[in-house]
Amino acid sequence: MRPNTMKALEKSRPEEGLWMVQAPVPEINADEVLIRINKTGICGTDIHIWNWDDWAAATVPIPMITGHEFAGEIIEIGRNVTGLEIGQRCSGEGHLITTDSRQSRAGKFHLDPGTRGIGVNEQGAFAQYLKLPAFNVVPLPDDVPDEIGAILDPLGNAVHTALSFDLLGEDVLITGAGPIGIMAAAVARHAGARHVVITDINPDRLTLAEHVVPTLRTVDVSREDLQDVIAELGMKEGFDVGLEMSGSQIALDQMVEALVMGGKIALLGIPPGKSPVDWSRIVFKAITIKGVYGREMFETWYKMIAMLQNGLDVSRVITHRFGIDDFAQGFAAMKSGQSGKVVLDWT
Ligand code: ZN
Repeated sequence: MRPNTMKALEKSRPEEGLWMVQAPVPEINADEVLIRINKTGICGTDIHIWNWDDWAAATVPIPMITGHEFAGEIIEIGRNVTGLEIGQRCSGEGHLITTDSRQSRAGKFHLDPGTRGIGVNEQGAFAQYLKLPAFNVVPLPDDVPDEIGAILDPLGNAVHTALSFDLLGEDVLITGAGPIGIMAAAVARHAGARHVVITDINPDRLTLAEHVVPTLRTVDVSREDLQDVIAELGMKEGFDVGLEMSGSQIALDQMVEALVMGGKIALLGIPPGKSPVDWSRIVFKAITIKGVYGREMFETWYKMIAMLQNGLDVSRVITHRFGIDDFAQGFAAMKSGQSGKVVLDWT
């Protein structure tokens, strides 16, 4: 039942845009599976590739089928693969690893320096079919729909960041109310934080944050001072944990100011180039900083699916849905800065 060609959304030329093309359906090797794609999520990374900015031009070889956030169904299995069956609904880890590095051999696959990303370095998921190493497949339980399966990659970023430090009974500050920041806020709530405060300077994003997680305290830092919020909430000295999701140097400064002595920061936001940091402030406040990359394989996946089955609800972060022939509208929604997650339907 395998067709020869498929629809795929490809970076075909070194200029702005993506193009729907007919591409060959991938051939799998003995350790891979072929997945029929049902739904995909558009990521900020895909917007960089659409725009063909300096990062994309330096990183992405063309032609390249983009996309790495997906859910689908296994339709072919390589002969060495065990434990997976045809018809299994799945998502999957889009970081392809090597197994001979120091960290991989220590079992820390997410820290492998040889990691290659689907949709960036290898042909991606914005297509009717995707080949993936069986190792990377994450089966979806029946109670996790494809639409949520298609956003497990960014939810995984949020979970990995949020669970970097113990949140139970802690006060948590999240800077940056994009979809990952908002999902991290939902995770912090689920993980038992006391106050969860999220900041941004885009009122639409803060409105979405309140819609997704009604118990959040949102702060537009262009209008309100975090120190006033700390006083209003009755916090004695400041936040215990900060999750930086914006890549903004101003936001990081505000976070350092708003933390308690000995506070902890997980950094997921990517600052543009080098940015000045007041290191002496960080030293004298005895702050711990952790950089976060990707998702832990596969502990993050295990925990996020368990949390979804135990009441974590991030479904309202999906604000736009389009059929694949209307992909340009999906990218326009993303670029407007007024969307949450945008999901494309390939069925
Ligand atoms: Zn992504």
